[in-house]
Amino acid sequence: MSLTIHKIFLFFLIIGLVSCNNTSTTETTTSTETNKVQDKPLLPTPSFNQDSAYHYIEEQVAFGARYPNSEAHQKTGDYIINKLKSFDKISVQVQNFTAASFDGKMLSGRNIIASFNPEIKRRVLLAAHWDTRPFADQDEERTDEPILGANDGGSGTGILLEIARTLSVSQEQPQVGIDMIFFDLEDYGDNNTPNSYCLGSQHWGKNKMPANYSAYYGILLDMAGAKNAQFAQEGYSLQTAPAIVSKVWKMAHKIGHGAYFPFKEAPAITDDHVYVNQLTNIPMIDIIEYSTEGKGYFGKYWHTHDDNMDIIGKETLKAVGQTVTHVIYNEEYQGQ
Ligand code: ZN
Repeated sequence: MSLTIHKIFLFFLIIGLVSCNNTSTTETTTSTETNKVQDKPLLPTPSFNQDSAYHYIEEQVAFGARYPNSEAHQKTGDYIINKLKSFDKISVQVQNFTAASFDGKMLSGRNIIASFNPEIKRRVLLAAHWDTRPFADQDEERTDEPILGANDGGSGTGILLEIARTLSVSQEQPQVGIDMIFFDLEDYGDNNTPNSYCLGSQHWGKNKMPANYSAYYGILLDMAGAKNAQFAQEGYSLQTAPAIVSKVWKMAHKIGHGAYFPFKEAPAITDDHVYVNQLTNIPMIDIIEYSTEGKGYFGKYWHTHDDNMDIIGKETLKAVGQTVTHVIYNEEYQGQ
């Protein structure tokens, strides 16, 4: 994903304000207040297995750099489809499409859609992108070579595959229907070309599959597996779906993973959730690492050759995977 120019400006403005005041970024005060009022017991929720999620990331990375039109990309799409089809209680659909890249190539894409309990009308949509960036433009060397994208591409996909496996083997089932979209062609973009990132979510948003699909809300995972990650509350998510941000962050704190989910606001970024929000009106939030050590919004590894298995932390996978699993298992049935 990318920072747009004005958002980069906003980012530095915010950082500037923060450093002038020498305080941490805005902290919300609603969390503890609301938790005190409605401390409902949690519904039975299966355990998220971080070792399995890690393995799913390793298997993707083992294909190599999974950039569009490459052999590794083709193999990885097949791998995700076959893995999902091997799970019980799930139906899989593939949306094939082509899209023009900012540099004039025609890219072949596949959005992969997995559905649980299709008869339930009240649905939650989970998403991640599975393609990886064809350039290491933020690196100091080999900038024209593709990156492995263990975190940027691999992590969200690995966590979703593990949630899919968990749903398929658990006796306990959520009261809501769950869909997952593994978006393609997210990361073949150029920061100076509008709408050049997120080609898969743009295609899906304009050509929904299943047709007439809607969901109560959505959660996007991107760069969700680096060691010691901090998932601040991303600005666009806060603007468009503040209640969902609040729900997810409170759950993380409630189940003991609050260290990864600070109640801090971060700038808005362009990622697949923006297009899902704009094109389908499904309020989708983005759980994405926010780092002030790297470039702009992202960690130092972002769009470099350091985005490999060495930076992936199982504790982070557990924090994100267990939080999302708890959120979906604690959605109440509401008569549909
Ligand atoms: Zn990226």
